[in-house]
Amino acid sequence: MWNNLPIEIRNVDSLNLFKISTNRERVPKFYYSGERKYTIYQSRLRNECSSLNADLFRVNIVNDPSCSCGYASENSFHYFFECSKY
Ligand SMILES: [Zn+2]
Repeated sequence: MWNNLPIEIRNVDSLNLFKISTNRERVPKFYYSGERKYTIYQSRLRNECSSLNADLFRVNIVNDPSCSCGYASENSFHYFFECSKY
């Protein structure tokens, strides 16, 4: 893996810069595009840490994971693709 790195990354002076250089290549560019608040919303949905009932139920904040439309689990897929209320 070291030999496959570009020479400019192998010659970076600090460990922090090396970590940033090598990690950024693996993270999709759309993670860093747009306004920060929308990136935060996207991350919260992706990591199941949103304000949707299924996510809140998973961490014992609400007693019921169901959606107000009657579906058993108000998760992000249901919210965006299935729910008739949203
Ligand atoms: Zn629903």
